[in-house]
This record gives sequence, C-alpha cells and structure tokens, in this order.
Amino acid sequence: MNDDMMIGTRIQEVHAAIETARARRTSVPKDAPVELIAVTKNHPVEAMQAAIDAGIMNIGENRVQEALDKAQTLEREVKWHLIGHLQRNKVKHAVRQFDLIHSVDSVRLAQEIDKAAEKFGKVQNILVQVNLAREESKSGVYREELDDVLAEIEVLRAIRLQGFMCIAPNYDDVEECRPLFRAMYELFRQVKECEPRTADIRYLSMGMTHDYEIAVEEGANLVRVGTAIFGARQYALGV
Ligand SMILES: *Cc1c(COP(=O)(O)O)cnc(C)c1O
Repeated sequence: MNDDMMIGTRIQEVHAAIETARARRTSVPKDAPVELIAVTKNHPVEAMQAAIDAGIMNIGENRVQEALDKAQTLEREVKWHLIGHLQRNKVKHAVRQFDLIHSVDSVRLAQEIDKAAEKFGKVQNILVQVNLAREESKSGVYREELDDVLAEIEVLRAIRLQGFMCIAPNYDDVEECRPLFRAMYELFRQVKECEPRTADIRYLSMGMTHDYEIAVEEGANLVRVGTAIFGARQYALGV
C-alpha cells in the first residue's frame, strides 16, 4: 500500500472509531455529529493533499508560518484551524489564513485578533482555550477567569466566539481524561444555554490521537487527530 492509500485507510479507521464512540455516549446526545480535524503539523503538503482527497475537510496546524507556506502550494479547498499558541506578532497573518482559531487564551490576544480582523474586513471565528486541569506547562484560561474573559470578548465586534478548546494532560491511563472532558462539556453546555450576545457557541474541540474516543464519548464535536492519520511526526526534518 502506498503512503496516500495508507492515509485514506487510517482516516476511515478514525471515522469508524468516532462513530463507535458516539454510539457509546451516555450523557451526551448520540446524534450530535463530530467533525474530524486532520492535524498536519510537521507533515508535508503532499500528506495534506492526500488527506483532503480522502475526504478530510478540516486541517489543523499549530504554527502560523508553516500553515502559510503550505497554503501557498496546496491545491485544495479546506477549512483551516489554528490549534497552537498564537503569538501577538503573528495575529495579522493568522487572521488571513485561518477559519477558526482554537487557541485564544487571553483578553489581550482576543483584542489583537479583533483589531486585525476588522482591518482585514472579516469576522474571525475563535474558540477560547480553557486550562481546566491547571497545568502550568499549557496555555489556556483558568476556570475562575473564564467569565470575565467571555464578558470582555462579548464586546469585540470582529470576533465571533464559537466555543471552547481544551488539551487533556498526558496521563498514563487515558481513562483519567474522562472527568476533565465531562467537566468541559458541562461548561460548554452552560455557556451555550445563556449564549453571550455576539457569540455562536457550537464547537467543543477536545481529543487527540490517544484520547479522542473518550473525548467524543463525553461530548467533543471537533477532534484534532494527527498521529493516528499520518504516523509519527519527524521534528528533525522540519516542515
Ligand atoms: C499536535 C496536536 C494535536 C494532534 O496530536 P496527535 O497526538 O498527533 O493526534 C492535537 N491538538 C493540538 C493542540 C496539537 O498541538
């Protein structure tokens, strides 16, 4: 089997695993659909093209420059997701390139995105990254800061809040992620219910290769999967 066929096969396997996880849901509606984001960071544009040819409609990248470089040579239409930390000096480019920015982790960053989006003439869809596990090594807003952050984002006209993103800690036993995902879904549900005026809450982005099945069971509707589709990343080779 060549590499492109392998990518197609793996995508089918991930889709099947998502469907199985969806059928196992207990506290979340089983019919609420799940979208798969193929995370292509550190993989070449050819892998990206193969994934899109196999039906992928969402691509995730964690670095702005890498996404810009790949977008120049990519000959396919796709929805771009920024899943990595966004530095303020990259905001202008991020707004041009990405359909959804998952990693908004401060009011200041949201304000910069708002300014850049207004200048560019678009309304930028964003998710707020929540650091529910309070890991110092990770970005994201702490739970107790979240209400204030949402209130400040609500007044920004060129930003549309579409939900939340979280990254679970790397537990030895992946089952340990479950309470965290469950708490994130509860938070998502609550905010959706009293939807902020300017928001359109619809996405809960959680789950990566090792934990996406549990994330889906607990209510994720956007999963970000790299390794299970493309194999291990080779950081030494760069892009
Ligand atoms: C790299 C990355 C992923 C994908 O990770 P895999 O383990 O390869 O599936 C998902 N989310 C974020 C934020 C990432 O940086």
